Amino acid sequence: MNEENIRKLQSWVSEAKSIVFFGGAGVSTESGIPDFRSPDGLYHQQYDYPPETIISHTFYERRPEIFFRFYRERMLFPDAKPNICHKKLAEWEKEGKLLAVVTQNIDGLHQMAGSRRVYELHGSVHRSTCQKCGAKYDLETFLKLGDIPKCPACGGRVKPDVVLYEEGLDGDVIRGAVDAIGRADVLIVAGTSLTVYPAAAFLDEYRGNRLVLINKTATPRDGIADLVLHEKLGDVFSRL
Ligand code: ZN
Repeated sequence: MNEENIRKLQSWVSEAKSIVFFGGAGVSTESGIPDFRSPDGLYHQQYDYPPETIISHTFYERRPEIFFRFYRERMLFPDAKPNICHKKLAEWEKEGKLLAVVTQNIDGLHQMAGSRRVYELHGSVHRSTCQKCGAKYDLETFLKLGDIPKCPACGGRVKPDVVLYEEGLDGDVIRGAVDAIGRADVLIVAGTSLTVYPAAAFLDEYRGNRLVLINKTATPRDGIADLVLHEKLGDVFSRL
């Protein structure tokens, strides 16, 4: 750990009045949730399609049995718990020094840690909606609705409120995230390689001079950051 960098980050955090945190898959991997886009050995034995294909709107419509099997096996982790990063961010919000969390993750761990203003760019596994009658279900109920979940009220198919490939992001969520980033004094971007849309574009909304990137490996945006830490998130947040 570079001590000079961590001391700089400590002082920026202690002086901050409106931190915004932008997090990617790396925030969740430290809670034991693997990035579903990175296939492992087991994956190839079980699926004939790449994740980007399975998690697309077209595939969801045409091959729901495979979609929902993948969804349950690779995207749902009901036993995962918030880690030090989630907890620290929730603390900062309570102390009034954090404006919002913007996340690309769908696991709801920020809310579980106590965060309230969370912009979930890709939706959440904790909510699902009947495509026919609009009834809403939580995750616990969703899991009881069958292999291809069927609405108990009307028999329609129940779809997780998760943004699939080919689907647009929610306009209100984007506006909320962009507005928060535009008002941030410190912007901490963590656990993302910043190659996936829209992460890179969101950074351009930041107007301040305390842009912090925390990622284990280099990102294409390291050059525009005011502080870069190539460290494990948990190691950094346990020092803040
Ligand atoms: Zn229904």
